[in-house]
Amino acid sequence: MKILIAEDDPISRRILEARLLEWGYEVMIASDGGEAWEIIQQPESPSLIISDWMMPRMDGLALCRKICSMEKSEYIYFIILTAKGEKKDIIEGLEAGADDFLAKPFNPEELKYRIRIGERIINLERRILELANTDSLTGLLNRRAFMERMEQEMSRAQREKKPLSLILADIDHFKGVNDTYGHQIGDLVLQRFVGQLTTSTRPYDFLGRYGGEEFVVCLPGGDGLQAVSIAERMRRQVEDMKIMLPDDSRSIRITASFGTACYSIESGKNIDLLIKSADDALYLAKDKGRNCVCSSCA
Ligand code: GH3
Ligand code: MG
Ligand code: MG
Ligand code: MG
Repeated sequence: MKILIAEDDPISRRILEARLLEWGYEVMIASDGGEAWEIIQQPESPSLIISDWMMPRMDGLALCRKICSMEKSEYIYFIILTAKGEKKDIIEGLEAGADDFLAKPFNPEELKYRIRIGERIINLERRILELANTDSLTGLLNRRAFMERMEQEMSRAQREKKPLSLILADIDHFKGVNDTYGHQIGDLVLQRFVGQLTTSTRPYDFLGRYGGEEFVVCLPGGDGLQAVSIAERMRRQVEDMKIMLPDDSRSIRITASFGTACYSIESGKNIDLLIKSADDALYLAKDKGRNCVCSSCA
């Protein structure tokens, strides 16, 4: 785990750093609150901060308040370590949003176990986030998490003036699979289907489970032609796939229909319109007889 030390006194900083390294943590250093704040803005930011209270530029409490009010996907655990140790100081620190408060000079064993508490809370928070964002059957992003990620990607596409495409994929006559083989085999087919889709995507593409047997792929930077070509590759691979039943008795074959839509600055589409376009294209693919790709890109 990465821990950031925010401390203006070089000696205190060195003592604390030595301890944290001894306990196996990765350490980052900031010599005041302003510097700490800059480090936190960066992508590989720390999960836990041990911050002094009184520091130039920005003090520990101001830093803590700023962190609490920022929109951050991961929780940052904040420990105040200060020479100010009166009851009213502790209350003020906790009121600012700190998770814990320790007085200097610190007892190394106590600090060690308080960091452990922080670690437990950070891990719990990560696990909850993961559960909340993931579809348990396929391991993909669930619809809500996918849409959140899409929001970010759309903003990026707008900012960088790059295209972005969507593929909606829906298994053909999937109800028949459930009816013939049962729901459990249906689940297995969904997992294999997702596995197959994943092999056709590029590293920066991401997938989500949009509904029951309907999946969505976002292709950041991908234009309409790329979307069609990737969807066509997916379609062919799904068609060629043999899904063995668990008892090895026989295999199932499925097909799927695909609808693609693309965003570009000129198109001016928002997320809802983009999804609607992909959905319309998927509907067309079903209407045309299934096992095909239709595009709504002009
Ligand atoms: P179409 O070609 O028009 O898409 O036909 P379809 O049968 O695939 O579509 P329909 O919407 O009629 O049926 C979808 C089926 O997917 C019905 C539902 O029971 C099944 N389904 C949805 N979620 C799951 C799941 O998690 N597991 C399993 N086994 N089946 C699911
Ligand atoms: Mg200080
Ligand atoms: Mg279907
Ligand atoms: Mg469907």
